[in-house]
Amino acid sequence: MATELQNVLIGLIISLALGVFSFRRETLSRTGTLAAVLLGVVVFVLGGAAWFGVLAAFFITSVFFTRFKAAQKEEVVREFAKGGVRDFWQVLANGGIAGILAFAWFYYHSPVIFYAFLGVIATVTSDTWATELGILAKGKPRLITNWERVPVGTSGAVSGLGMAVALAGGALIGVTAYYLLGFTQVRGLESSMLMVPIAALSGLAGALFDSLMGATLQAMYYCTKCKKETEKTLHNCGTKTQAIRGFRWFDNDVVNLASTILGAAVAAGLYLLFF
Ligand SMILES: [Zn+2]
Repeated sequence: MATELQNVLIGLIISLALGVFSFRRETLSRTGTLAAVLLGVVVFVLGGAAWFGVLAAFFITSVFFTRFKAAQKEEVVREFAKGGVRDFWQVLANGGIAGILAFAWFYYHSPVIFYAFLGVIATVTSDTWATELGILAKGKPRLITNWERVPVGTSGAVSGLGMAVALAGGALIGVTAYYLLGFTQVRGLESSMLMVPIAALSGLAGALFDSLMGATLQAMYYCTKCKKETEKTLHNCGTKTQAIRGFRWFDNDVVNLASTILGAAVAAGLYLLFF
C-alpha cells in the first residue's frame, strides 16, 4: 500500500511538472492541463515508468514542435481547429485510449496491450509533428482523396514532408520504448528493435487515417464572406458558416479518437504478425 501511494505521488509530481511545462508554453489550456495530468498519473501508476516515458516523449516533443515558429503558423491555426492550444476534450480524444490500455495492462500483463499503447502514442506524435511542421512547408499540400492542391492547413491535406515527419515521429516513440524497456525490468514485456518500425508504421497509418477522415467524414464549413473553408461554425470574421460536407458530430476530436484506435490496431496487428 505504501509503495502504491508513493507511485501515485511520484506520478502526480512528474505529470504536474509536464502539465505546467505545456501550459506555460501555451500548448495546453487549463482544462487541457487537468486532463493531461490525470492521464499522466493513470499511465504512470497503472503502466509504470517505461509507459510514462513513452507518453512524456510525445508531450515534450509536441510542445517543442507546437511552439516552433508559432508566429508563422498563427494564421493557419486560427483558421483550423488543429494545432495550437489543446483543451480537456482534445487531450482525451488524443490520449483517452492510452489511459484505457494502461488499465487493461494493470489487469492483464500482455505485450500486445503495450504495443497497442505504442500505436496510440505513435499516432498522436506522428499527427502532431506532421501538422505542426507540415503547415510550415513551402509548396501547397494535396488532398488525400482526389490529390488536388489545397491551401496549407486544410483538413485532409498531405505532403511529402508531412509523411516523412510522421514516420520520424512514430520512430522516435519506438526508440524511446526500446531504450526505456532495455533499462527497466517490466514483467512480461521485453525490449525489441522491432518496436521502432512498428511504431513508425502505426504512427504513419494513424496520421494518414486522420487525414482521410478529415477529407471525408469530418464536418467542414464554408465562410461565404471570406470564401474560405473552415472547421468552425462561427468564422473568425464573425460570420456564421455553412456546412459543406461531413457529419455535424464528426469533429476534430472524433477524428483524433478514431485515428488513435486505428494506430493501436495496426501496432497490435504488426506485433501479432512478427512475434
Ligand atoms: Zn469569414
